[in-house]
Amino acid sequence: MDVYALIGNPVGHSLSPPMHEAGYDAVGLDAKYVTFEPATDAGAAAVDAADTLGVDGINVTAPFKQDVLGAVEPAPLAERIGAVNTIDFTGETPTGHNTDAVGAVRALRHHDVTLDGSAVVVGAGGAGRAAAFGLADEGMTVRIANRTETRAHDLADAVPGASGHGLDGLAELLADADVLVNATSVGMDEDETPVPAGALHGDLAVLDAVYSPIETRLLQDAAAAGARTVDGAWMLLYQGVEAFEIWTDRDAPVSAMNEALRAGLGSDAPARD
Ligand code: NAP
Repeated sequence: MDVYALIGNPVGHSLSPPMHEAGYDAVGLDAKYVTFEPATDAGAAAVDAADTLGVDGINVTAPFKQDVLGAVEPAPLAERIGAVNTIDFTGETPTGHNTDAVGAVRALRHHDVTLDGSAVVVGAGGAGRAAAFGLADEGMTVRIANRTETRAHDLADAVPGASGHGLDGLAELLADADVLVNATSVGMDEDETPVPAGALHGDLAVLDAVYSPIETRLLQDAAAAGARTVDGAWMLLYQGVEAFEIWTDRDAPVSAMNEALRAGLGSDAPARD
C-alpha cells in the first residue's frame, strides 16, 4: 500500500484526505492519505521522518511551506516561489514542488480563460507569490497589489515583467486587465472583499483563492459585473490534482476528486487546505 500525508498545524479539518482518497479509489490505487500535525518548529524534521518511514509523498501546508525548503531538493518553480507544498520521495533525494502555482493556472484553464493578457494579483503572501509566478510563466503581464505595498514591490522584483502596487489604485489597474486573482485572506469566513465592486467589469475572469465560503463577496460582485468567476475550490482541486500526478505518474481522476472536495466543502466542517 502507498502512503501519502499532509503536514500542517493545524490540519484538523483538511479536505485533502477525502479528495486524494477519492482519486485513489477511482483509479484502483491501493493507497492511504493521512494527516500529521508536527510542532510548529518541526516541519523539516517531519519531512526527514516521513522519508525515513517510507512515506511516498507529502503535502505541506501552513506554517511549514517555507520551512521545509531546506529538507528537500526544490524544483525550479518551488525555488523561485520560495515555498513547497508537495514533496515526492520516489527519487534519490526528496523533491519539493509548488503546485499552488499550477493550481491557479489549471483552475483558470479549466474555465477556458486565455492566459495571454494582463493579470492583477491582489496579495503578496504565499498564494499571491504562487499565482504571480504561475501567471507570469504563462506569459501574462502581472501587476501585484498588496496592502503592505513594499511586499508587492519585493515580489514584483522577482517575477518577470511584473510591477508592484498598493491597494489604492486597484480600479485603475483593473480597467484593462483580463484576469484578477484574489490571493489575500479577505473574504474567508466573512462577507468582505479586497476589491471595490465598481472596479470589476465584464471582460474580467476572477479567481478567488478563498474557498470558504465558496461564493465569496468578491465572486458575487464579479458575477454581478458580468465577469467570469472561478471559485477557490478549483485552485484547491488542481493543486491536489497536480500533486496526485507528480506522485503517481498518471493522469488524476479530476471529476472524482472534485466531487469529493465539493462534498467536503458542503459539510459543516470548516474548510482548510
Ligand atoms: P499569507 O501568506 O498569510 O498572505 C496573506 C495575504 O493577505 C497578504 O498579502 C496580506 O497582506 C493579505 N491580507 C490579509 N489581511 C488583509 C486585509 N484585511 N486587507 C488586505 N489584505 C490583507 O496567506 P496565503 O497562504 O497567501 O493565503 C491567502 C488566502 O489564500 C487564504 O485564504 C488561503 O486559504 C487561500 N489559499 C487558497 C489556496 C487554494 O488552493 N484555493 C491555496 C493557498 C492559499 P499583507 O502583506 O499586507 O499582510
